[in-house]
Amino acid sequence: MKEHKPSILIVYTGGTIGMIRDHETNSLQPFDFSGIENKVPEIKKFGYLIDSISLKPLIDSSNINISSWVKIANIIQENYNDYDGFVVLHGTDTMSYSASALSFMVENLEKPIIFTGSQLPIGTLRTDGKENLITAIEIAAAKLNGSAIVPEVCIYFENKLFRGNRTTKHSTRNFSAFISDNYPPLALAGIEIDYNLSVIHYPTSTGKFKTHNKLNENVIILKLFPGLSKEALSSILSIPNLKGVILETYGSGNAPTIKWFLTLLKQAIDNEIIILNITQCDSGGINMGKYETSRELLKMGVVNGADLTTEAASTKLMFILEQGLSYHEIRDQLQHSLRGEMSET
Ligand code: ASP
Repeated sequence: MKEHKPSILIVYTGGTIGMIRDHETNSLQPFDFSGIENKVPEIKKFGYLIDSISLKPLIDSSNINISSWVKIANIIQENYNDYDGFVVLHGTDTMSYSASALSFMVENLEKPIIFTGSQLPIGTLRTDGKENLITAIEIAAAKLNGSAIVPEVCIYFENKLFRGNRTTKHSTRNFSAFISDNYPPLALAGIEIDYNLSVIHYPTSTGKFKTHNKLNENVIILKLFPGLSKEALSSILSIPNLKGVILETYGSGNAPTIKWFLTLLKQAIDNEIIILNITQCDSGGINMGKYETSRELLKMGVVNGADLTTEAASTKLMFILEQGLSYHEIRDQLQHSLRGEMSET
């Protein structure tokens, strides 16, 4: 029988990884990824079928928005049946937001979607981009008994494979730019790629793969800080059409107990604005009711965001708000793990 040659689609969106230095201007510019096998000849050695598609226009990931996520999701949808796995090359700045968004936008995923990028452009001598790209391709192609080893939306960076919706960019300096403090790596790449099969999510339903391409943008992230004024909070909560607030509270979900603060939040909840409580800490989650400073939040109907990252919380809320659910159903769904993004308490 003829051996199946793994096929990978690289979706290049922009970011440092795809940059080379223009010798005339000395500035970094995106290079033509259709020639990727010439820039990184090592990937030919896999013997895989590797195609690439570039987002038009290529973007620094600071310019990523909902419509970019829809473009990426559509590319994957259109090519889903033709490839064994997907590698999305993306700027690191918002990669965790994009990987989180995509994790909610895809349903019944049975193939790997591996985001990666780099801190140094692929065209520079000490680049981390080559290793990241090469290993991401290998992971996207990896199978066990005919099925993908990692059928999840992930970020691969500096020897670690993470569930995408558990990550946060934490360093602008180190090659190891991402952390996933509330969930273990799905794989570690050393001499061999060591998969931690017990923490990888495998599909339980046999439904057909599909993508959702509506996200609601009437969501904001509000990080508490000592000194937040009544005026600022009041005007934020009065934004027309506001549907939800990711409230980044202190420690295990704590917030000021001053009356005006609690009254403004209560009024927002009475107006069916979702207030989703997550912690400002990188590690651990919230525990509303543990301290007096969170008991009132619990009583008034602030939603428990458990150990969601900011990136996962905001994109999850954008996604759930477009699912045609009632206010109470939205609150309920937020407290359940949809794609392994949170630990349920
Ligand atoms: N500014 C770049 C981006 O996020 C940084 C990077 O790729 O690491 O697109």
